[in-house]
Amino acid sequence: WTSDTVAVVTGANRGIGFEIAHQLAFHGLTVILTSRVTGVGEEAAKVLQEGGLSVVFHQLDIVDPSSIEAFSKWIKETYGGIDIVVNNAGVNFNAGSDNSVEFAEKVIATNYYGTKNMIKAMIPLMRPSDSGARIVNVSSRLGRLNGRRNRIGNIDLRKKLEDDESLSEELIDQTMNTFLEQVKDGSWKEGGWPQVFTDYSLSKLAVNAYTRLMWRTLSERPEGHKIYVTCCCPGWVKTAMTGWAGHTNPEEGADTAVWLALLPGPSISGKFFAERREINF
Ligand code: NDP
Repeated sequence: WTSDTVAVVTGANRGIGFEIAHQLAFHGLTVILTSRVTGVGEEAAKVLQEGGLSVVFHQLDIVDPSSIEAFSKWIKETYGGIDIVVNNAGVNFNAGSDNSVEFAEKVIATNYYGTKNMIKAMIPLMRPSDSGARIVNVSSRLGRLNGRRNRIGNIDLRKKLEDDESLSEELIDQTMNTFLEQVKDGSWKEGGWPQVFTDYSLSKLAVNAYTRLMWRTLSERPEGHKIYVTCCCPGWVKTAMTGWAGHTNPEEGADTAVWLALLPGPSISGKFFAERREINF
């Protein structure tokens, strides 16, 4: 890897995102460390720059279309394009099995729609290369379609989301909208949604489904213009999101995302990983 390779990491001012930026820069890439708040993002970038790494800060709020637009324009003008995007930014307000309208809306808007809008904005900027450009979505095992626990109870819906023939962007959006409507009218508990971390689990289920969907579209691109897209679970990591509970530290939490960002080849694309191994959706 050389500093000509440009990688973008979202939500990189702290936690797992900061470590992803750190490790990618350590491999010799130029990393665009982004953060929705300028001050903390600049501080985080400075820490890595002082360690001699090629890290550049830019503001990016993934729920703000004008921020995504300004960022895309800056990338185009400054670098011409990018090679890797790691969609790490995310929020979680769940402390159990509750759901408020405000939090559910924020979680779905950030984790799913924010990630989706970033993917849409970054694809036209991804540079052609023999080894392919990469998109890595930091997701969660909580969003598994077929996990033994915490899955969608509505079997028809689960089957539709699982089947590549019926999976579509409309179906994913519709699923999120149905859930949000039920949170608003108070009927979500009877809706058969995941039992714990409900809004968060659903937002990550949507990220996973969108990853599979994108792979179908992106795999049709001609050789030399391929973009490989994957999603991963970082494990249960000691960060602000978990109140510093968890099994692993952010360094280990970042490992699989960094590995996927640097891995060549189509064999990984459209798949879900944890601890550098493929896992079921
Ligand atoms: P943190 O809360 O420490 O970091 C989340 C990052 O996302 C912060 O930099 C935060 O910025 C940023 N962010 C939130 N909203 C936006 C937005 N609208 N635009 C841009 N950035 C935003 O959490 P983690 O490091 O633990 O989480 C990183 C990813 O890993 C998330 O996607 C999370 O869902 C996922 N994950 C984490 C697990 C864990 O155990 N920690 C387990 C499974 C998945 P700010 O500082 O401004 O809030």
